[in-house]
Amino acid sequence: MLIKEYRSGREFAGRLDHGSDLFLSLMRLVEEKDIKMGIVKVIGACKKAVVAVYDQEKKAYHTVALEKPMEILSCVGNISSFQGKPALHLHIVLGDYDGKAFGGHLMEGTEVFAAEFYIKELVGDPLERKYDEITGLNLWS
Ligand code: ZN
Repeated sequence: MLIKEYRSGREFAGRLDHGSDLFLSLMRLVEEKDIKMGIVKVIGACKKAVVAVYDQEKKAYHTVALEKPMEILSCVGNISSFQGKPALHLHIVLGDYDGKAFGGHLMEGTEVFAAEFYIKELVGDPLERKYDEITGLNLWS
């Protein structure tokens, strides 16, 4: 197990612009506020979404494009770094007009209808992502 202890840092809350890209908007915010470690939560709605699911056998992401308006029921994740750059890792659960749920690892291409975010900064020695041979993922190390 890997574990580090952090103190609470700055907290941010706000609303993303209509028509913006969910992932890219949050990434821009992380860069502008220079957040090294943190927790992200978003709720709202999107016009369409792109998520990915990791194929554990092939060690590759399988992308799923969801071309319909949906609620962002829950989007949670974390901020750390990979190769000296900010790494934003978000998962999302979306609900359609029939109440069906879809989800996965959030990718670029998710168009915001309306979205409210909350980011909490964690202060301490930031976690770095490194390539992991066993899983093929860039994991905290
Ligand atoms: Zn993921």
